Amino acid sequence: MFDALILGGGAAGLACAIQAAKRGLSVCVLERNEVFGKKIRATGNGRCNVSHIDMQPFHYHGAGHDFVNPALQACSETVLADFFATLGMPLTALEDGRVFPHSLQAKTVVHALTKGAQEAGAELVSNAYCKHVEKETGGFTATLFDNRTVRAKKCVLATGGASMKKSGSDGNGYALAERFSHTVKDTFPGIVALHLQGRIHKELDGVKIPSKLTLTIDGQKIREDRGDILFTSYGLSGPPVLQQSRHVLWALKNGRTPALSLCLLREDWMHTEKLYAFFKAHKSTAGDALRLLLHDRIPGPFLRDIGLKENVPLASLQHRDLQKLIAALRSWTFLPNGSRPLEHAQVTCGGVDTDEIHAETMESKRVPGLYCIGELLDVDGDCGGYNLHWAFASGILCAKAL
Ligand SMILES: Cc1cc2nc3c(=O)[nH]c(=O)nc-3n(C[C@H](O)[C@H](O)[C@H](O)COP(=O)(O)OP(=O)(O)OC[C@H]3O[C@@H](n4cnc5c(N)ncnc54)[C@H](O)[C@@H]3O)c2cc1C
Repeated sequence: MFDALILGGGAAGLACAIQAAKRGLSVCVLERNEVFGKKIRATGNGRCNVSHIDMQPFHYHGAGHDFVNPALQACSETVLADFFATLGMPLTALEDGRVFPHSLQAKTVVHALTKGAQEAGAELVSNAYCKHVEKETGGFTATLFDNRTVRAKKCVLATGGASMKKSGSDGNGYALAERFSHTVKDTFPGIVALHLQGRIHKELDGVKIPSKLTLTIDGQKIREDRGDILFTSYGLSGPPVLQQSRHVLWALKNGRTPALSLCLLREDWMHTEKLYAFFKAHKSTAGDALRLLLHDRIPGPFLRDIGLKENVPLASLQHRDLQKLIAALRSWTFLPNGSRPLEHAQVTCGGVDTDEIHAETMESKRVPGLYCIGELLDVDGDCGGYNLHWAFASGILCAKAL
């Protein structure tokens, strides 16, 4: 019988295994895939954005800040850097604060974690797909789909969320938790491209612009993000859109009205006087003038959307039309009505209800000796390294309590 059995050999499971084995515990990790850390390999466009220098609870959603705080306190970005340093893998922070392995290769992270777990003495078993786990006197028994069984005094569920099914995390872990009478909060995609009402995005498919994106819900400003915005055949993508997506989808699920406003102007072109002067100087049509100011595919759909004709001479525009034009350049509004499916999302929002988990240990309040870590829990972080950090931090915190 092992001291600890960890189900799932991803970011959370491997970090937990390393720390628990280093404490001298006998640890077994079961991973359904042939290889460990399959999802990690796909992260950060193959570069694996492991953390962020601005590691604060407000970057996390789903669970309350009180729940994520103990793990973030126990495993700050510096502690995580030390953890990887002990595995021989240095981290580096980019100018925007995102933290990566110095190699900028996700496979380095997988290599460091698996080698670290093996060297610490953990037993890593691949092709080991757990069907169910039972609590018995003195511990837990996991039964695999090929009917092998593994026994341990304590059991950690680290089976991940439900995005990117081919990575092995397909949501089956929720059923494992439910068998222990845990509540699973409704899941929905996070860090995902959004669908929009109307057809304008279809006309602009492929256009990419650096912009400021403002999210409002029922007219109230929620957040503002800057970066490249990409129009696609289904809607909008790009870092600011991914960042705001979980708030948009939460609002839609709860019958609220989210709106996304795109600023088409650079900072130095926001002044009203400067814009009036620009339009006054052009004797041409609105379309011709805007083609000198914006990406050339935008003016047609943009002017139609705000109710102006592309070929209207600027000189004939009423003052209120010019005001409307300038206001829309600063804030062109789109109504999202959904997202790409969970399969295309970077994280799963929702999951095991954190009210049923001790925040200081990750132990179940329902079943002593059972623990839940990583994305399986109802915790999702902002884009920028927060989800991997949560997986590592919750795994490391849990290992101390096993
Ligand atoms: C395309 C993409 C890019 C991303 N980029 C980033 C990024 O750059 N930075 C960031 O912070 N986050 C990123 N994320 C999110 C991040 O990868 C996850 O939040 C993180 O991997 C979750 O770790 P985890 O250990 O909880 O789950 P996972 O890493 O998903 O690991 C769970 C493991 O459990 C195994 N498993 C599942 N069920 C069973 C079972 N019944 N028996 C045995 N094994 C089982 C799975 O095969 C899997 O290996 C990205 C996600 C995607 C999809």
